[in-house]
Amino acid sequence: MKITDVTAVSLVVPIQERMKAPISLPYADELGPIVFGQYRTTLVRIKTDEGIEGVGECMVRLAPTATREIVHALRPVLVGKDPYDVEVIWERLYGMMMNRGHDKGFYLEAVSGIDIALWDIMGKAEGKPVAALLGGIANATFPVYASSVRFRGFEQTLADAKKFVEKGYRAIKIKVGQNPRRFVDDIEVVRTIRGELGSDIDLMVDANCGYDVGTAVAVGRKLEELDVRWFEEPIAPDDLQGYELLQRKLDIPIAGGETQFSRFGMRDILSRRLIDIVQPNVSRAGGFTECRKIAALASAFHVPYAPHTGSSSAICIAASMQLAAALPTSLIFESMESDWSKTQENPLRQRLAPAPIATFSDGNFTLDQRPGLGVTLNEEIVAAYTV
Ligand SMILES: [Mg+2]
Repeated sequence: MKITDVTAVSLVVPIQERMKAPISLPYADELGPIVFGQYRTTLVRIKTDEGIEGVGECMVRLAPTATREIVHALRPVLVGKDPYDVEVIWERLYGMMMNRGHDKGFYLEAVSGIDIALWDIMGKAEGKPVAALLGGIANATFPVYASSVRFRGFEQTLADAKKFVEKGYRAIKIKVGQNPRRFVDDIEVVRTIRGELGSDIDLMVDANCGYDVGTAVAVGRKLEELDVRWFEEPIAPDDLQGYELLQRKLDIPIAGGETQFSRFGMRDILSRRLIDIVQPNVSRAGGFTECRKIAALASAFHVPYAPHTGSSSAICIAASMQLAAALPTSLIFESMESDWSKTQENPLRQRLAPAPIATFSDGNFTLDQRPGLGVTLNEEIVAAYTV
């Protein structure tokens, strides 16, 4: 089989209301409306001479047309190659820009979308889900957590958490860290939810890098008393010494890795034992080809893998489900239940691939084992939001 064409499309959905940052963000008053003013993605479509087309998603949080242009610039590397040669292709793409400072960021997000589309092609050609090609389905049914309860005042936050339990979730993530000076409110909201939901529900806490080390220690010690399962991104991802301090002072497992790229980016945080749970995003960290290496690297440190999906679109979510089903070290899957805007749903998450690719029951997803990623694009949504 040969690749005959590669195209990328960028989709943008303006959010009508002036958005306040729904998670921790520096200078949130100024930057929130820009970062969270649109739902965005870039999709990669790869055609072959056998009529099989694959689709992938590049993670996008700003400037989706930047990843689109990178994918188009990489077309000459791809056309004529066998889509099964994912390792060969990945190293070509990475090698091209590695020594020019582009070993992460937009460039790796573009490479990720390309790689996901190649695996989709292989799965479709074999008539098997990508998970089967990744080495076999280790977990046909896997646990999931509801992401996320965001702090919107005590009553509303508690009501949101209860709603997830009523839906059947057994694990819930709570976002904190938006106002680090009021970190006592963060502790209190987790305490309130724990008190109301009891000990049967797993709680995770995600600060999105909102704290300094001292505050993270203070919060982390309280979270330990509340039996929180993990403390995610307590501090800035560049502060490796800070993570070292947290590991010395806290007993609670630290989760992280959503901001990192490739096995090289994960190497330091894993080998220095800075995190206890690794959370790569397949549409950012390098696609399936790289994420299974990250999983292997993490497994050498007995660090489990919990895919990050965040506010990504349906293709990234489908790809992440394939990893959750395939990886023996898969811990729990992030099931996004909240969009940035309370009043305007994200059609790129909810309607881009209309048929569900997994069935939810009693806190678990069971993968519907269709070929490739198992998704069919809703072309009306693609057309409606292409820029
Ligand atoms: Mg997170």
